[in-house]
Amino acid sequence: MTPATLESLLASVDEARDEIIALCQDLVRIPTVNTGVMPTGNETPAAQLVQRKLAEAGIGAEIHESAPNRGNLLARLPGTAGTPRLLLLSHSDVVPVEDEGAWTHPPFGGEVAEGRIWGRGAADMKSTVAAETMALILLKRAGVHLRGDLLLAVGADEEAGGEWGFGWLARHHPEDLRADYGINEGGGAAVQAADGRLVYLVSTGEKGRLEVEVTVKGRGWHASQPWRADNAIYKAQEVIRRIAAYEPERHVAPALIAPLAEIYGVRETVTAENVDRIAADLERENPAWGSSLRALTRMTLVATMIDAGVKSNSVAESCRITCDVRTLPHQDEGYVRDQLAAILAGLDGVGFAIRYTAVPSASPYDGPAAPFAAAVRAATGAALGRDDLGFVPGLTVGFTDSRLVRPLGPIIYGFLPSHPDADPNKSGAHNIDESVDIESMILATKMLVALAWDLLGAERGAGSAA
Ligand SMILES: [Zn+2]
Repeated sequence: MTPATLESLLASVDEARDEIIALCQDLVRIPTVNTGVMPTGNETPAAQLVQRKLAEAGIGAEIHESAPNRGNLLARLPGTAGTPRLLLLSHSDVVPVEDEGAWTHPPFGGEVAEGRIWGRGAADMKSTVAAETMALILLKRAGVHLRGDLLLAVGADEEAGGEWGFGWLARHHPEDLRADYGINEGGGAAVQAADGRLVYLVSTGEKGRLEVEVTVKGRGWHASQPWRADNAIYKAQEVIRRIAAYEPERHVAPALIAPLAEIYGVRETVTAENVDRIAADLERENPAWGSSLRALTRMTLVATMIDAGVKSNSVAESCRITCDVRTLPHQDEGYVRDQLAAILAGLDGVGFAIRYTAVPSASPYDGPAAPFAAAVRAATGAALGRDDLGFVPGLTVGFTDSRLVRPLGPIIYGFLPSHPDADPNKSGAHNIDESVDIESMILATKMLVALAWDLLGAERGAGSAA
């Protein structure tokens, strides 16, 4: 066998194009719908499909069921030295389809049209399952001897929080997830910077999410004699006023904000004092940019539901105000508790309870992470054959499985580069007519192959006569 080079490996991805597409189609055709209510998901057949595909290439994989038919797949392409370790993460479950009739292409048909694969999970994230699986297979087929281990983990249950997926794996098989580096969903969008450069967003972490329920207690009474009641709805006014008026602390993490400000074309240094003015200026030109600058520099707290009273002729004795809270990575539950205690200080009959739905989580982009960040940039450049790309670290506001695996040690980025020509408005993860751009899936496969080659130290040209 001619020894592999990075160029020959990247070419092998193009040669395997139809095979990568077919694997994604086959995965979409398995309806791994996760309603969040057990029994659900049924991810095992998808895990088995990946296991069979890997087995054909001589790569062993294990399936661990966290519950009946909720298969989680773990595979490994062992390196000669075993370190460093790169973990490729993905999930096989998908969100439900509401009205199949509203879809142009059947949601579990996996049809190919207009350069895209159509169906539920095509974008989120079976195309990545296919890309990651094929990265292992293509490296194995090329006979590349990596020094470090390349790990693949395809989890169940991400869409309902990961309790039966990466949460379960982290508790029962932590050794198989322990790695130096990881790649998962959450980033990789390409945007046009203010100076015209093509810039990729690398998700280094995610905000946390909590629900806060504020309870206002009053005294009920017959509505015909309201003066004898202590109307909880009226009492809630002050609570709502204070929540609406809450001014969160502005937190400007330079490593995160400076590169972002640069692509937005901001010429001054962003600080906690000037960030709102800069965001307002940006919003006039580009609402999304101004909004993301705000979101990345503060905790958000917003009332989203209100519930009071049981009957129209009785004065309400209690009122519940539910709030959505998104925290920055350094803001823990104690921080949220302190903020709420300050907001509600001095109000009697008012209490609150906090429920976490996702802890915040982030990996560094500089310092010890600098070599990984550089490798991700280089691999993307190699995959696209371009050296004029920009990269900026960022946080995503939605949660991913990465938060469940970061505590085991790996630096994990949400980063699967989309193709520069792909239409960003078409992917529609979770939407009707979800689809994935085929060029982006091929590009992601190339990036993963190049990343493993570079990061895990392939023995370049061993045995070469050249
Ligand atoms: Zn996803």
